[in-house]
Amino acid sequence: MSSNRRDSSPRSQIAEQRDTCRVCGCNSAAPYLSVPRDAGDGRWCLRSCRGCSFVWLGEALAPDELAAHYPPEYYGRENGRFRGVGEAFETWCRRLRARSITRLRAPGSILDVGCGRGVMLAALRDRGWRVRGTELSACAARRARHVPRLDVHVGDISTLRPGDETFDVVTLWHVLEHLPDARDCLEHVRERIKPDGLLVVAVPNIDSLEARLGGPHWFHLDLPRHVSHLSVRTLDRLLRAVGFTPVKMKRFSLEYGPYGMLQTLLNRMGFAHNLLYNALKAPGARMRWPIGRWHGALQLGATLLLLPLLAPLAALLHLLDGLAFGGSCIEIHAVPTREQ
Ligand SMILES: [Zn+2]
Repeated sequence: MSSNRRDSSPRSQIAEQRDTCRVCGCNSAAPYLSVPRDAGDGRWCLRSCRGCSFVWLGEALAPDELAAHYPPEYYGRENGRFRGVGEAFETWCRRLRARSITRLRAPGSILDVGCGRGVMLAALRDRGWRVRGTELSACAARRARHVPRLDVHVGDISTLRPGDETFDVVTLWHVLEHLPDARDCLEHVRERIKPDGLLVVAVPNIDSLEARLGGPHWFHLDLPRHVSHLSVRTLDRLLRAVGFTPVKMKRFSLEYGPYGMLQTLLNRMGFAHNLLYNALKAPGARMRWPIGRWHGALQLGATLLLLPLLAPLAALLHLLDGLAFGGSCIEIHAVPTREQ
């Protein structure tokens, strides 16, 4: 066997592609941002394509390394991820998504890629849709399967059976940023969507005011889980490259926008990273607590005192973000490009 035989393992393939942009194919990337790791030494380094400005995590993580950053508590307990009002708000937002999709299209078949616990799918099913989900996390999928009559496939979209059904609507809510190869996922989506179907994609926007204000403290940076960082421009380019035509964009997000800005401001002001977010999580759904107990209690007290000032400011900045900077979390609707 040749000594210079190329290692064809998935990890080496990703490593080889580390400086190749998956949006435009350019082979030249520059350092974008360096962020200290939560635990241990070292830093996470983001790279930016010199051709199209797509941003991605430069370090290729093996599947087991990446899985270590998605412990069961990341998905919350069966009864939810957040404490009372927070969980009610999240559930309400998922139902709002179901309502807005039903306004866009009459109930038919829908695939939710990265369906999590299946809250939105259950709401869609109740509105008359034939629902199906894919979920990489067996843990989250188990919870989704507790919802009666929910069809959830564990694995990525490429592992759906060949020749399986195509869908009237496919949704990807805050999924692409978690994938090392967002293009590959969208190419599979393109094969699964009907010619007159609708794609709905939502991602955080790395070009937003919120991302610029936050820098390494940006709430949606979320390293190393968010490995692909898109913007209005790069998402539009990526969608067109795989055969979709964007038809509509939403720049405001009630679910992610004002809170993301608030937490980014708190992080930027020097409070422990995502302290309030962790405090809002339900017991058993918390990731590593970022600070000592008493120090954390003091910081939370100061945060609560500042909330009457910071919450309206965050809402205003989110509005400004959408009006002038593209919005912190964007939602793009796209249809399959018609063959000429
Ligand atoms: Zn590029």
